[in-house]
Amino acid sequence: VAANADYLDLLGITKPTLLLDKARVLRNIERMAAKAAAASVRLRPHCKSHQSAEIAEWLRDYGVHCITVSSVDMACYFADNGWTDVTIAFPVNVLELDRIRALAAKIELGVLVDSEAAVGVLGNALDVPVRVWIKIDTGYGRVGIPWDHHERIVSLARAVQGFRRLDFAGILAHSGHTYYENSIEGIQRVHAESNSGLLTVKKALDSAGLGECMVSIGDTPGCSVAQEFGGVDEIRPGNFVFYDLMQATLGTCTGDDIAVAVACPIVGVYEQRGQVVIYGGAAHLSDGSLLGGTGRRVFGYLSSGEGDSLGLPDYDSPVVSLSQEHGVIEVPRDGLRRMSVGDVVLILPVHSCLTCNLHGEYRTLEGGTILRMPGRSGR
Ligand code: PLP
Repeated sequence: VAANADYLDLLGITKPTLLLDKARVLRNIERMAAKAAAASVRLRPHCKSHQSAEIAEWLRDYGVHCITVSSVDMACYFADNGWTDVTIAFPVNVLELDRIRALAAKIELGVLVDSEAAVGVLGNALDVPVRVWIKIDTGYGRVGIPWDHHERIVSLARAVQGFRRLDFAGILAHSGHTYYENSIEGIQRVHAESNSGLLTVKKALDSAGLGECMVSIGDTPGCSVAQEFGGVDEIRPGNFVFYDLMQATLGTCTGDDIAVAVACPIVGVYEQRGQVVIYGGAAHLSDGSLLGGTGRRVFGYLSSGEGDSLGLPDYDSPVVSLSQEHGVIEVPRDGLRRMSVGDVVLILPVHSCLTCNLHGEYRTLEGGTILRMPGRSGR
């Protein structure tokens, strides 16, 4: 069990604390950067996963010079921290036009549209150039124009070009339905189908004389297992910096790629029930869950953490229920006998982005502190 990880004494943990394994983060970044370089695609990582200027600097060390964010707030935060090429990969919120205009005056800003209404409001309001991406729905069914509605896409691209300050950047998709697949082959198939759909859109734009544009895709499952990115100009995975149990379950990472965990004090050991209760609930882990081996919902797994890393998921020790502050973990008898009230255990998260979003900072295993963007929940 996790109570014997080398660094826990050093960290002096007294309450639920988000830990970050820097060696793993760097390895994850290095692997994705190498993959992008080998495929000659630009890596524009999504920074909503970590929301940290310091971690974004690590990306720069691997040749990254442009990023993706999901809100105007996040774009402003990274612009204030030296990023000059940022795409807000969320449908443009026309209620924030003033801030979008101010930001576009300072940096190269990209925004997303899927309607003439949004294009009209943007085009009429902006007096500084903005890159406009048309959001394409390749099957996820969240936002975007369905990929096979070529006429609508071409017409929207023309509308963008009709405004002096709007630069038509290209077509952008997020194939989040890779997360619904349950095999590597399935994820590769969704990735390939999405990309071939996008290439037909590109062809239609070409025929209409609008083909001088880019194709941007990005989801961590697809980018992690893809063997090729033919016709794609840029990829925007985000979760890959930390990965998590969801990705390990999909098979898109291994347990030793998971680079964040929540350290939680044990507040009760219940031998008869075969459970321990931790100070660490939905407020610290998020209520993200996955289906465990027995078909039950699981909200995290204990880490077998030993030595100087975050360890590996212990699939025999699932977090089986959460309330706001409590987490209940089922632990096999021999593990339970080694656990006491006051020990600190590590919980690997189901969705690292959601878990990290509940914390104001990361503690590194070496004892450092890395801040996240201020003003979010949990602070
Ligand atoms: N691009 C867009 C538009 C997204 O919405 C997301 C995530 O939701 C990403 C990229 C990154 O995908 P992932 O979280 O799988 O890394």
